[in-house]
Amino acid sequence: MKDAYFQILDFEGRISSNDVYHDLGFTDNLIETVQEILQNSGHKTDMETIEKLGFPMTVLRHNQGGLHIGSETNESRQAIIFYNHQSPEVAEIKTRAHEESHAVCYLGLRKDLEKMVDVAGIGKFCEEDFCDQMGFYVLRKKGIEIPDDLLIPYNERLRIASDRL
Ligand SMILES: [Zn+2]
Repeated sequence: MKDAYFQILDFEGRISSNDVYHDLGFTDNLIETVQEILQNSGHKTDMETIEKLGFPMTVLRHNQGGLHIGSETNESRQAIIFYNHQSPEVAEIKTRAHEESHAVCYLGLRKDLEKMVDVAGIGKFCEEDFCDQMGFYVLRKKGIEIPDDLLIPYNERLRIASDRL
């Protein structure tokens, strides 16, 4: 086992020595970063393949937000996250916390992270809503007021984004 530290959540968990957590940080172009990661793992990198693999096309086309990519072999799990700069900064902080939380879930640490927050019923939230809650947790901890548009639930956000495409 080894420690994995999730920076913006300020959360440390124990993961298997074989598992890997990579926070690539800020990237200018989300699609190019996806393509680099796919290329490194021997995948094709055309947009049709990216869409078929289930990447969130609205996030990619708007180049606005962040991503978590999980992959596993028989021996190990790898969680990669990256994101771009967003304005206002409050959206960017929430995105980072959201993606870090996906990595936490992927690496099997969700229960440990849940213990840090005081949100009723958080154990029953679907992963997207859980990750949003962790974003709000970080903002509250930093004393930042949460703007209304960040409070839109995940499913509704997707619908709005796809209308804008
Ligand atoms: Zn998400």
